Amino acid sequence: MVRETSGKVTMEKLVSLCKRRGFIFQSSEIYGGISACWDYGPLGVELKNNVKAAWWKSMVQERDDVVGLDASILMHAKTWVASGHVTGFADAMVDCKGCQQRWRADEIRDNKCPACDGELTEPRMFNLMFKTFMGPVEEEAGLVYLRPETAQGIFVNFHNVLQATRKKLPFGIAQIGKAFRNEITPGNFIFRTREFEQMELEYFVKPETDEEWFRYWVEERFRWYIDLGIEKENLRLRQHTKDELAHYARDCYDVEYLFPMGWAELEGIANRTDFDLRQHSSFSGEDLSYFDEETRERIIPYVIEPSGGVDRTALAFLVDAYHEEEVEGETRVVLRFHPALAPIKVAVLPLSRNEKLVPPAQQLYHELRKCWMVNYDDAQSIGRRYRRQDEIGTPFCVTIDFQSLEDNQVTIRERDTLRQIRVPIESLKPTLDAKLSGEPLDVLPPGGSYWLGFEG
Ligand code: ATP
Repeated sequence: MVRETSGKVTMEKLVSLCKRRGFIFQSSEIYGGISACWDYGPLGVELKNNVKAAWWKSMVQERDDVVGLDASILMHAKTWVASGHVTGFADAMVDCKGCQQRWRADEIRDNKCPACDGELTEPRMFNLMFKTFMGPVEEEAGLVYLRPETAQGIFVNFHNVLQATRKKLPFGIAQIGKAFRNEITPGNFIFRTREFEQMELEYFVKPETDEEWFRYWVEERFRWYIDLGIEKENLRLRQHTKDELAHYARDCYDVEYLFPMGWAELEGIANRTDFDLRQHSSFSGEDLSYFDEETRERIIPYVIEPSGGVDRTALAFLVDAYHEEEVEGETRVVLRFHPALAPIKVAVLPLSRNEKLVPPAQQLYHELRKCWMVNYDDAQSIGRRYRRQDEIGTPFCVTIDFQSLEDNQVTIRERDTLRQIRVPIESLKPTLDAKLSGEPLDVLPPGGSYWLGFEG
């Protein structure tokens, strides 16, 4: 019998699981750590790559109207003057005169330090961009910024892409890459960090069609999270109020997720109007207009921007996947990742380390890992090995036992239901392929059968 025993996972539990199993480590831990930076371990890098691949597949690969880009992190300093970041990308900050801690002014209630109730300084504006210098001399002329968003790399390449691809409106340019913000109050694990990755699409449309495309992208982006397994009740859309809107935005919705600390933004979808292309035209002197062949006029396209964070999204998938259950009197922790996101797709487990079982199990492992990330594990009891795979979210375990040596069949055990089927080895690969693409376990290949498996 399987019984769910816990509600939402706490952040402490998740941080500890992530460290223990190699998803996420504190950066520079041996030196005492560096605040708000995290390193992705062997399983974390797989999860993150899978998040990015799922985004790229739905935003670029499966569409005719979107192409990709990978712009450099360091850009001409004028970019950030034109975009408004040099003057406007700042948060109001206050210091506590007692304990010296810094806070974002908009997080303060009653004008008191949230940590010690001490008196606070007057708010000062603090620009969130990291500065560095290009070339050997640290002088103003060599000043460059680490990009605080990937979007501007797309805008400054608008004409290059247009000319290279001959795309017609509406069309989009997608990019995934690092961004840096010197956040005043980072925290909540990988939710708010100073170095992170963004997944951004700039979708260029004819000005009068902006509202229609805006609605389209809000729905499309919401659906993406649901399709990848996020529980509907943990996801919501929130429209920005007029005073929350960025100065360039006409409308904006946030996709929010119910994290352990409450509802928080995963992604923003904004109607940025023609602000960016106009600004870069004016600051660079390059004409960034588009020639509309139907009306024979030059226009500045409007832009709809779905902008999400890879790390925040990975955190939401981790939180949502986490379940604690009671199975036959014992607790099992299971990450119910969508197969597309699971770091390891299949584990190959010989029933024991018996010398007859290991060679065929190894052979199977070598065969399967040509297709997917596969684990091989022969240490300890089969039950404990199943639990280890559950805890990292591996959707399927394949077990070779003594009967396999006689009938050339192996068992496939499903993570979520604990049910097993037995299939001929020659149909293992296509069967796993189908199951990983969502085929129910009940659908059996020729020669397959249901199996009363052992959980150990
Ligand atoms: P917030 O209000 O949480 O600071 P934002 O509205 O400033 O976020 P955007 O500028 O819209 O964020 O950036 C788009 C996306 O990039 C966010 O939805 C988020 O997923 C991600 N992101 C932004 N800042 C950070 C950060 N410091 N750490 C991790 N991800 C971030």
